[in-house]
Amino acid sequence: MQNKEEKNAYQRKWNLENKEKKAKYGKTYRNKNREEKLEHRKDYYEENKEENREYYMNNKERIIENAGKRYIRNRENILSFENKEKGREKRIEIKEKVFNHYGHRCQWLNENCNIIDSDMLQVDHTNGGGNEHRRETGLVGPRLYSWLIKNNFPEGFRLLCVNHNWKHKANMEKTEWENRKIKKEINND
Ligand SMILES: [Zn+2]
Repeated sequence: MQNKEEKNAYQRKWNLENKEKKAKYGKTYRNKNREEKLEHRKDYYEENKEENREYYMNNKERIIENAGKRYIRNRENILSFENKEKGREKRIEIKEKVFNHYGHRCQWLNENCNIIDSDMLQVDHTNGGGNEHRRETGLVGPRLYSWLIKNNFPEGFRLLCVNHNWKHKANMEKTEWENRKIKKEINND
């Protein structure tokens, strides 16, 4: 009677010694089986051609709907980790291309700021049309970067670090508020 440890050791040894044999056998079996399966499927298809067509015509809507659902499911699978990684790399590449074009540093007060870190930089609409442009085109982040490349880096955009982007927005709000106040005072006079 073998104890558990001996059994495991024996199994390991056997697997190691028969590794190639097992792999080869598995492959041959799979290939043989695949051919048989394909052949069988072909025969089945030919035999039931007419019936299949009739079934399709009678259930067209449902079949198309299910195919659509299957496509969506598959698409989710396809967007697996590997593809996500590829997408990430592509997004970084696009972002860097845009940042390089716009000087790859914060442009606050003619480059008085030393921020060059990609994670801390944002594309800013110089004339302050950011919200409007965003509303019109729905473009933010990677999609905005792609848009800028596609439109050959239009004028009116610059890079700001996150802090200075906030400061810029605050300044604009302040200006707008003051303008409103002045207008009100003029009207009251
Ligand atoms: Zn800055």
